[in-house]
Amino acid sequence: RECIGCNICYSGDSLGVPIRCTQNPTMGEEWRRGWHPERVAHRGSDSHVLIVGAGPAGLEAARALGARGYRVTLADAARELGGRALLESRLPGMSTYIRVRDYRVQQLHKLPNVEIFLESRLTAEDVLELAADHVALATGADWRKDRYDGARYVPMASSDAASAVFTPDDIMSGQVPEGPTLVFDQEGYYMAAVVAEKLRGTGRSVTLVSASDSVAPWGDMTAEGSRTRRHLLSLGVEVVTARTVEHFDGKTATLSCNHGGPETRVACDALVAVTARTPRDGLYQDLLAKAARNPLPFTLSRIGDCDAPGIVAQAVHAGHLYARELDAAVDRDEPLRHERVELTERRYLDTLLQYYEEEIIGEAYFDAMAARFSATEKVEKMRLLAEVERRAAAHVRPLIERHRLTPRPEDTLHAAGRAEAAAESGDWEALLANMRRSYPGYVDDFTRLEAMAPAADRPALARLTEHEVAAIAFLEAETEKAGDSTRPLRDYIATTG
Ligand code: ADP
Repeated sequence: RECIGCNICYSGDSLGVPIRCTQNPTMGEEWRRGWHPERVAHRGSDSHVLIVGAGPAGLEAARALGARGYRVTLADAARELGGRALLESRLPGMSTYIRVRDYRVQQLHKLPNVEIFLESRLTAEDVLELAADHVALATGADWRKDRYDGARYVPMASSDAASAVFTPDDIMSGQVPEGPTLVFDQEGYYMAAVVAEKLRGTGRSVTLVSASDSVAPWGDMTAEGSRTRRHLLSLGVEVVTARTVEHFDGKTATLSCNHGGPETRVACDALVAVTARTPRDGLYQDLLAKAARNPLPFTLSRIGDCDAPGIVAQAVHAGHLYARELDAAVDRDEPLRHERVELTERRYLDTLLQYYEEEIIGEAYFDAMAARFSATEKVEKMRLLAEVERRAAAHVRPLIERHRLTPRPEDTLHAAGRAEAAAESGDWEALLANMRRSYPGYVDDFTRLEAMAPAADRPALARLTEHEVAAIAFLEAETEKAGDSTRPLRDYIATTG
């Protein structure tokens, strides 16, 4: 699958979407769809599959279905395989696109179970006669002669000038407009630029009018944009940006300015519309009409540009997807593996482990703090806090085991707690003031952990949160010098068994 240098791989980086490759449709799908670049599942039935259209979508579907072992019939109206890959590869600078066809044709020749029919424009009757079990239409798309105004398609030329309006399909099929030509680009990728270059090559004057603020703006996604602009200027193509062709009368094109500036006019004898493509789905509609009278004896699908006009990479991907999914169980609600659930779970587990370790550290901390005071009453309070920490950790312990988490060794955690205690000043009031400041934040942390947790873990985590609430109640009673300040701690211990 020789690289064609289209840089679609790079556009995924520009856009922040998964990587794609025109030649290798499995690129970026290895994990989320489980597509191996070389291996495909053996066929799921003895079905016969008919593919109509041998452009990138049809060729790839036939190749991958053939590799799966299906009996495949591939038919195309043209004399040569390749569809748009063949036609576009003949435009200036586009020769590498033929590799999209060549790789697939090479592979098809190795597959005795794939039969190819050229110069075979199929009608709905032909399709029925072929008696396949599955029919995939890969009949492509046609360039439009009108433009899109944001709400609907509107004509640009008056009826008497219609014959001087061309599309890229016309140029690729060898038609040559007469005289100075205006190429109007509303699509934004490479087509307008290569058509302009081709026409400029015949010596006429060419004006490229871009409906965007720059020429070939989508080329910036593939790092072709600036080269394209430089190249067009070096060829002497006249460039006009941010304008839309409002009207063409066969001699003059009237352009509106996208930013409210005055209308301008360009003298030209021909207009090439590079605006949008429309699915070539006549055969599909004919088959649907037949289906309305009698159920079709096969499954009917559209793939590639005849389903949704797009870039070549998209058509290849659509063909591959069709081939992979034939006779396979596909859950439409869950067609891709995605990472979100696992990331949330990872964050939950990391936090759970962290808080569990902090309780064990806390237990050692308060035990060590108990040794720092001589008054029995203070020693007793520190010991109670240590016990509360121990109980809180005991509640979380089953979750740590259930999720197979590995806390650091208890000795290490205890040593950390003792080190924290050693760093304290030993001033009782300062100690309590510190605790009063930090503990409400811990309650928030624990509540957030509960919210992240699976339902089964929540009761244990509620007890973790409660231990901090009990500690805060103790601190408040201490501050108010209320008589029985340790009551909340003892209550917590008493109810935790
Ligand atoms: P895609 O990019 O989706 O693969 P293409 O435009 O490259 O589409 O290819 C479409 C192909 O379908 C062309 O080669 C065209 O000749 C062929 N085609 C269109 N209609 C028919 C038909 N009725 N019978 C056979 N081939 C057809």
